[in-house]
Amino acid sequence: MTSDPIHDRQPIIAVLPGDGIGVEVTEVGMRVVRAAAARSDWSFRAESALVGGAAIDATGSALPQDTLELASAADAVFFGAVGGPKWDNPSAPVRPEQGILGLRKALDLYANLRPVKLAPSLLAQSALKEEVVRGTDMIVVRELTGGLYFGKPSRRWNSPTGWRAVDTLSYTEQEIERVLRVSFELARGRRKKVTSVDKANVLTTGRFWREIATRVGADYPDVVLEHILVDAAAMYLIRRPATFDVMVTENMFGDILTDEASVLAGSMGMLPSASLGSGQNGAGGVHGLYEPIHGTALYTPEVVGTGRANPLAAILSGALMLRYSLNRPDDAAAIEVAVEHVLASGYGTPDIAGPSTQVVTTDRMGDLVIAALGETSARITAPAAG
Ligand code: NAD
Repeated sequence: MTSDPIHDRQPIIAVLPGDGIGVEVTEVGMRVVRAAAARSDWSFRAESALVGGAAIDATGSALPQDTLELASAADAVFFGAVGGPKWDNPSAPVRPEQGILGLRKALDLYANLRPVKLAPSLLAQSALKEEVVRGTDMIVVRELTGGLYFGKPSRRWNSPTGWRAVDTLSYTEQEIERVLRVSFELARGRRKKVTSVDKANVLTTGRFWREIATRVGADYPDVVLEHILVDAAAMYLIRRPATFDVMVTENMFGDILTDEASVLAGSMGMLPSASLGSGQNGAGGVHGLYEPIHGTALYTPEVVGTGRANPLAAILSGALMLRYSLNRPDDAAAIEVAVEHVLASGYGTPDIAGPSTQVVTTDRMGDLVIAALGETSARITAPAAG
């Protein structure tokens, strides 16, 4: 048992399952995180709260005050997914997405990390040729609180020449610098390469971004920095994905490129994410929110409540939470290795099943990962922390 003050304190995790398969995968994800903690002889307090559609039904708000207070006070937020046809009225004043958007804003979660790593056993499931996608192991870092989605003015008006609309792409130096620093720090724990993506040939903000990336990069002489235009980045992501280590970009470019990158790994059910804020929490990490990148699957009823949901994105999000917010990198690595072991042993949920896969349910997949965690620590040798 560790005896430093940070590790002696019991961390608090706010668990916000949300709707649909968000509830199912969050339950399994937390079971695995709990098993990883128990294996290393420590524990945490998990407190659940409503968010999204479930919260609208119960309270009329997608992000009730209690939920916000819990998330703000916790060391980390473990999130499922929100939304579904029941609440999908575009003109409704209250919508499930307000739950996640409100949390990002309230917690100032400015760096969205999406690791994309293709397990060798899933090579055949990728939409790309095996020889192109083999070895893909990258993290895309998307700036999450600035840029075109938040710049003002953003409005539509009737001008003398007809209707017009405007959105504004705006960044401060500080907003760009902090997300770049996150990226360089990540690269230091990985293969030491940062690809900064911008549109410097056309946009003033792109040239600003590039200038700041170059300046920040000078503080990390051990990390190789390359600049790529966003249009080229979109092409290289599918042409040579394995050459990237950490890719960082502004909000809208990141929105598009992270969806493109998610295709590389074979299934939505495989991809975790972390959204990091500034400042240390009491657990020796940074405040963060962790969620699978997939949604609730409530438009595909055959997946919800049937044991067909893949919990690995949630389980791997739990590993990211251990690494970045709870300062438990060894436990994070142990979960990642356990997941790889289960996949290499031929198990999979229906979304990642090939001809010889032994298909298992959501819960059983959790059991298998926990069993793999419990096996010899000799196999669980920590890969480089990301
Ligand atoms: P989705 O990710 O829920 O589903 C897309 C497809 O992938 C479906 O075929 C689904 O069955 C499958 N799928 C997704 N996750 C899976 C998993 N873990 N295992 C097996 N199959 C899986 O996206 P959608 O259908 O576009 O959206 C459904 C709802 O989720 C919508 O209301 C949407 O707004 C919401 N959504 C929420 C978030 C979030 O909360 N962060 C993210 C995306 C979508």
